Order: sequence, then structure tokens, then C-alpha cells
Amino acid sequence: MDTWFELMKRHAREILPVRDGESFDDYRARMTQALTPSQRAHMAAKAWADARQAYKSRVARRRVWVAAARLAFDPGPRCPCAVCGQYECITEAHHIYPLALQFDAGETQPIQESCWLCPTHHRLMHEIIEALIEIRQPRLEGVPFGERDRLDKIGVRFVHLWRRAQLQDRFLLKSA
Ligand SMILES: [Zn+2]
Ligand SMILES: [Zn+2]
Repeated sequence: MDTWFELMKRHAREILPVRDGESFDDYRARMTQALTPSQRAHMAAKAWADARQAYKSRVARRRVWVAAARLAFDPGPRCPCAVCGQYECITEAHHIYPLALQFDAGETQPIQESCWLCPTHHRLMHEIIEALIEIRQPRLEGVPFGERDRLDKIGVRFVHLWRRAQLQDRFLLKSA
């Protein structure tokens, strides 16, 4: 059973009931079309408030927190890839600071800063983020210099947001 889906079914009963046999992905797509961003944000906040009471395990809480943040997320109109300037028809919204990492860093309000990336540059962007976290060189052999440069710029923004969370954490530890 998908706990997040069960939660959403309960919260959405009056606003947008789930259809019989509807998958969560179909439902989410329908919800994104039918509800305004503020309605979605409101539902996400309510579902998360429930979940944090109900789920003791960190993994379950992370899953629900990320799902709630995605529900509230409004990337705006689709744009060409921020790196190559192409493939607008298939670009994906990328969180500059990935949501799961935000949860792990103890963020409470999701940071929804995002950009549009084509599938290739999206994949490369996550390779850069992983490399930054693991303190190793990213695997970018064969990626043209100009593209690396634009990927790095987005990476710098990620580091800024990520470090800010870590510094806050240290500050809290010190003042505790
Ligand atoms: Zn691209
Ligand atoms: Zn992404």
C-alpha cells in the first residue's frame, strides 16, 4: 500500500476525489491540471502535518515530505533546457537543491528553486551533485566545455543552498 497515496485520497475527498483504479501518477497529473498551485500547497501542507504525526520511521517521513513538496511545486511554464537551450518538448523541472537532500539536511520548508533541463543535462546535473557530495570528480568526459560551464553555474547555486542548510545546522548545535 502506498501510504502517501492513501493520505492524499483522504485529503482530496472533497476537492478532487480519486477515481476507481486510478494510479497515483495519473492522479497526480490530473491534480496538477485541476488544482491551483495554492490549493496544491494547502493540501500538501495538510497531508504532511498528518504524516509527521503518523510516521516514526525516517524513510517513510522523507518519502512523504518529498511527495508533499512535489505536490506543492509549481515549476511554471516549460522552457528550453537551461544548459543547451534546446528540447523544450521534453525538458524536466529540476530542483536546484534536490528535495531528498533538503529533508536530510533538516529543511522544514521546501526550497522550490528550479530550472528546466533536457533529460541528458538533467542526468549530468545529478552526476555533478552526487560528485559534490561525495567529494570526487564528476564523470563528465566528452561533455563540451560550454555545457560544463553552464552545468557548473547551476552546481554553484546548489552548493550555496546546501551549505546554507549545513551552516544553520552548525549554528543551532552551537547555540543548543
Ligand atoms: Zn540540455
Ligand atoms: Zn533533478
